[in-house]
Amino acid sequence: MIKSPLIQKPLPGPKALKLIDQDRIYVSPSYTRYYPLVVEKAKGLWVNDVDGNIFLDFTAGIAVCATGHCHPRVVKAVKEQADRLLHMSGTDFYYRAQIALAKKLSSITPGEGGKKVYFGNSGAEAVEAAFKLARWHTKRELNLAFYGAFHGRTMGALSLTASKTIQKKHYNPLVPGITHIPYAYCYRCPYNLQYPECELGCVQWIEDTLFRTTIPPEEVAAIIVEPIQGEGGYIVPPPEFHKKLNSLAKKYGILYVTDEVQSGMGRTGKMFAMEHFDVDPDIIALAKGIASGMPLGALIAGTEIMNWEAGSHASTFGGNPVSCQAALVTIELLEEELMKNAADQGDYLMAGLRELQQSYECMGDVRGKGLMVGVELVKDRETKEPARTWRDEIIQNAFYKGLLLLGCGENTIRFSPPLTVTAGEIDTCLSIFDNVVKEIAG
Ligand code: PLP
Repeated sequence: MIKSPLIQKPLPGPKALKLIDQDRIYVSPSYTRYYPLVVEKAKGLWVNDVDGNIFLDFTAGIAVCATGHCHPRVVKAVKEQADRLLHMSGTDFYYRAQIALAKKLSSITPGEGGKKVYFGNSGAEAVEAAFKLARWHTKRELNLAFYGAFHGRTMGALSLTASKTIQKKHYNPLVPGITHIPYAYCYRCPYNLQYPECELGCVQWIEDTLFRTTIPPEEVAAIIVEPIQGEGGYIVPPPEFHKKLNSLAKKYGILYVTDEVQSGMGRTGKMFAMEHFDVDPDIIALAKGIASGMPLGALIAGTEIMNWEAGSHASTFGGNPVSCQAALVTIELLEEELMKNAADQGDYLMAGLRELQQSYECMGDVRGKGLMVGVELVKDRETKEPARTWRDEIIQNAFYKGLLLLGCGENTIRFSPPLTVTAGEIDTCLSIFDNVVKEIAG
């Protein structure tokens, strides 16, 4: 039997309304809430709110719950570890779970040779650590990052971010020495070129213009890049983009740092999105899906690169034993079945969305890999005028019909369900999405 969302009107219900009122009084107003969902519990892809409404979750808690909400094996591992040891700090002491996870991550990340792992608590911390390690290792001061990139909100990570000005407003001055360059966003090429005739002029421009006029390449520590841009709009660059960029980096002794916080941990149908592009990065930042919802960030680098000395970087809570144990089971589940499921169901989802695209002019671009799928909404296919309001209304209305979605970029809807998603759940999602798009922009 295919399960469906169960929604009683009015939404939000009375209990949700009360809690939202309290939230307004006590919780920071800096959070962005798309719709009034107040969660009580969740299992797999199904989320219950405090009033008994049941939603189908195609957000995975912002691409985090890779193994579905509260996977029994993850919950068991968390409970068992909580009984043994909650915290000791991997900064000053040793414990089994952190060492075991470091060993596992070293073996599954791309690249030959020995690797070492640094642990933090979040994506921003993983990126922050990457930023510092690149400076420490190379003793160079400059960095390149991309327009559209989102790397987190701590001051270093925020300095690398170039997604929305609201994220930076009133926080200047940020960390100096970062130059943002256009990403390979072929649907809206920043250089007005056409792929493949462009021969990736966007990468060539870095060498021909940037490195000749303003940025001495021998002073650049790292190029920091998302394999597929996440918050920027689920933008998949052309197949050769990373190879060409990495070759340029290698030519000048620049480290290639990939932020796989959103794209990693099986989401794209491979353990790491960079595997689709056949590049072994020098440094990899991970978080989000790594521990199925327990807070954890990790930075993986070759042993010769992660050569900073004792005391140069650390965090009290980083590599918490409960989170590490959850990560070990998460990786087991990804390897056993979920990565493959992400590839298979991702194809199914993409095919379904492409079919809907035939009927709706507003679905300008459907793109993605595995279960990292975006639909860019436009007013007109020819002019590609961004349809931001439609995007927001579609997300709102989907919520009122029991489907949880999130936006990304200016006018894109992201589909990032848990990797446990079934074909039946995708059918339900597509049917609700179809109805909502018809109502708003059909
Ligand atoms: N990097 C990428 C690619 C992300 O998508 C995010 C969060 O969305 C981050 C870094 C920051 O992660 P966190 O919110 O855990 O600090």
